Amino acid sequence: MQANTCDTEFDPKALTEEQAREHILEASEALQETRRVPLLEALGRVLAATVEAPFDVPPHRNSAMDGYALRAEDQDTGTRLKIVGRSFAGHPFEGRVEPGECVHIMTGAVVPDGADTVVQQELTEADGQWLQLRQTLRAGANVRHPGEDLRRGQTALERGRCLTPADLGLLASLGIGEIEVRRLPRVAFFSTGDELRGVGEALREGEIHDSNRYVLHALLQKVGTEIIDLGRIPDSPEAVHEALAQAAAQADVVITTGGASVGEADYVTRALRELGEADFWKIAIKPGRPLNFGRIGRALFFGLPGNPVSAMATFALFVTPCLRRLRGEADRPFRVFRAVTRADLKKSPGRTDFQRGVLHTEEDGSLSVDTTGLQGSHMLSSMSRADCFIRLPRESGPVAAGSAVDVMPFSDFF
Ligand code: AMP
Ligand code: MG
Repeated sequence: MQANTCDTEFDPKALTEEQAREHILEASEALQETRRVPLLEALGRVLAATVEAPFDVPPHRNSAMDGYALRAEDQDTGTRLKIVGRSFAGHPFEGRVEPGECVHIMTGAVVPDGADTVVQQELTEADGQWLQLRQTLRAGANVRHPGEDLRRGQTALERGRCLTPADLGLLASLGIGEIEVRRLPRVAFFSTGDELRGVGEALREGEIHDSNRYVLHALLQKVGTEIIDLGRIPDSPEAVHEALAQAAAQADVVITTGGASVGEADYVTRALRELGEADFWKIAIKPGRPLNFGRIGRALFFGLPGNPVSAMATFALFVTPCLRRLRGEADRPFRVFRAVTRADLKKSPGRTDFQRGVLHTEEDGSLSVDTTGLQGSHMLSSMSRADCFIRLPRESGPVAAGSAVDVMPFSDFF
């Protein structure tokens, strides 16, 4: 038999992180309804259909520099070229550049017919009428061609893409002012716990403020959902049952925090069994071992642990992928980087740890990671200082400073 110093850590029936996520994703289907939104409201929305370029971008041959448009074969440091006009952005030169001639041109302005090269201003001398070259360039230098960025008919953005600031610019450059996006998932959530008080309420002995509510609200905002905040629900079977039923009636996803372990006052699991299908999972991760996942009518249900750090970790690992799937986003795996830990890391074998860390870039460009210190799953300050998870494998024991570890930046989760 394998010696085990901490037998609560090993649970042969516990799911792995990947198994739990796979189950959840199997149950999560993209919402099909779409709507048209103006570009200025489209940031973070998910594209419902692939967008093709309706014309070449850029639409015309234009200059990459301020300078003079000329014929490459006319370049000779000895000769002078006649300046016959100007082509400024939005004000093209109407004529044609003939041998021995050139046109004063600005960045983005149309390169006139006849010319094939732009010599930047710094390499010339001009007196307003005549141009003298101080250097010659290869034919075609500093000329941008139509369709260089995107050809007409080419895919500009794929369906399932979560629109970024650059994407909005790209759509605008294609003259597209409204876009078809997927409906946002509606997510209802509430906190449970008799010890919880609102922000601004005085705390009596044994009470704490409901911080999860603010964390969840922000997480849901960042992922991109329609948020239904049902507040705080006391630890009573009737109240939890009632709140769950109400939540499920109006949402695609219901999320609770607290009341998820097998303790006396934990009514969430029980209410879930009464109302729908419940899975109570032990997942071999730390923090966040207990997780309720199930279904109430057509709504998916997540019962997250009450401890704020556990709630955030389980949200990151399991709720975020589900919500992205519902939003219609193309799957994107969380990135894992290797970094050298600057500190010793405590760890017992048995569960995969998601410790909180701060990433650094060393002078040689390599990554290192610091721990945020104490890793208690109630310590929000440690979560708040962190910008990544340090993922330590299930079987791993303590890790010595100087070892390479896996890190996962928070920016991939929320
Ligand atoms: P529970 O899952 O209800 O047993 O809660 C586990 C721990 O998390 C307890 O210490 C709770 O006081 C704490 N907790 C539960 N819900 C919240 C919340 N909304 N905000 C802050 N802490 C919470
Ligand atoms: Mg509780």
